[in-house]
Amino acid sequence: MNLALVSAPDNSATGSTNIAPANTAPTRPVLPHIDLASLPRHGLPTALLVRLNVLPLEFTDHQLNVAIPENASGALIQQLSIACGCDIEAITVPEELLAPWITSYAALVSGDAPVTDESASIDTVLRDLAASCCYRHGSDIHMEPAPDGYHVRLRIDGILQPLAQLPVGQGQRCVMRLKLLAGLDVGEQRLPQDGALNITLDDGERASFRLATLPTVDGEKVTLRLINSPSRQLSITELGMSPEQLQLLTQALHSSRGLILVCGPTGSGKTVTLYSALMHIDRHHRHVVSAEHPVEHRLPGVQQVQVEPRIGLDFATVLRAFLRQDPDVMMIGEIRDAESAEITLKAAQTGHLVLATVHATNAGACWSRMRQLGIAEEDLHECVKLIISQRLVPALCRHCRRPADARTKMKIAQQLQPPIAALAPATATGCQHCHDGIQGRLGIFECASPPFTATYSDMGPLYQAGLVKAAQGLIDVQALSHVI
Ligand SMILES: [Zn+2]
Repeated sequence: MNLALVSAPDNSATGSTNIAPANTAPTRPVLPHIDLASLPRHGLPTALLVRLNVLPLEFTDHQLNVAIPENASGALIQQLSIACGCDIEAITVPEELLAPWITSYAALVSGDAPVTDESASIDTVLRDLAASCCYRHGSDIHMEPAPDGYHVRLRIDGILQPLAQLPVGQGQRCVMRLKLLAGLDVGEQRLPQDGALNITLDDGERASFRLATLPTVDGEKVTLRLINSPSRQLSITELGMSPEQLQLLTQALHSSRGLILVCGPTGSGKTVTLYSALMHIDRHHRHVVSAEHPVEHRLPGVQQVQVEPRIGLDFATVLRAFLRQDPDVMMIGEIRDAESAEITLKAAQTGHLVLATVHATNAGACWSRMRQLGIAEEDLHECVKLIISQRLVPALCRHCRRPADARTKMKIAQQLQPPIAALAPATATGCQHCHDGIQGRLGIFECASPPFTATYSDMGPLYQAGLVKAAQGLIDVQALSHVI
């Protein structure tokens, strides 16, 4: 490379700016002879380079020559290598000499379409992973670094299943690309970060994900939570409620005011129930708003707000703002403190229908939790239209299930209240359609409606709802015991 001493670029020029040697003092740092317009840009993550104060000088198939600031961190070269997918040859230059060049380069590339690192192959990998997640009805993609590569697993029906293994370099470039797409700080690999991104599938459908990174000793681990799958429909009729429960929910949703509470432990499907309920509401004639942390699924016709406590946008703040927006229906991700409980109740008392989740194991515990948060007994009696308690139970594969033995049948018959005449419990061992006899998950519900009494104090109703499903051969009675 033809090295010459550098002088600051003429920032007014965007065309060719030939830099002539400024002087020949041997102690001055050097940059190659530079023609600004000829600096490489195509096929490079130019925005990232600018942000990292890296000036690309020459780009070949296997190598990128760059100028970096003298005080650059030791990890910079490795980051660049991963982001650009090639070897990096760097010269160091004092920051004050490099800065004007970076500014000029930034101006030069600002109009370029975003260019990605090895975009074709990495984007294809990511698109394939996203498509697998959508079409196999997965909920999360895990990309886990290990010494022998990146292990990619998919969570389907609550169970992690191996999906792919990527070579270390390709895995790192995928992670880098995901971070770029999610607008995260690509240079920061030591701290966890989170964001959101969209991936367009081959059929043109768009899948939305939330991305969270975790710095592990083997590298950055990434979890992608699918929040808007094109193949996922939300309907209250598909939740798994009995006809009676469905009628209670439909009635409650037609109310103009009051409170619908959904409870259950983490991962019990509360959010899907709330979302399906909102989709049942006439959103053309009712103003529907939601406060969520995070927004897991984009809902047409619903004004969704993502709660961000770190910037002071907590549930209570969002709820107060909602009340100034003339809403008819409000959904609250979770009532977690006395303040949000109080505002929720006030909203329900003043002509709004409010749907919310509460972290409690059953309807009775939910009632107690609201009392603990400072809500008066009579206010609860006045406002609460429905308390839904729920669990998700692994569903037996309909392809390979077969009648269960007499002992299982007897066990269900002994516990089921009231008894059912025709018991057809089933079991399943596995086939090509399922994973060890399990295919999807089924919701089981307890729906408590007014007048509320002390009978809502144990797990009985939920267990009985599960027993009915076991008696119908839809779930395994053992699996039921595990989730309740
Ligand atoms: Zn099967």
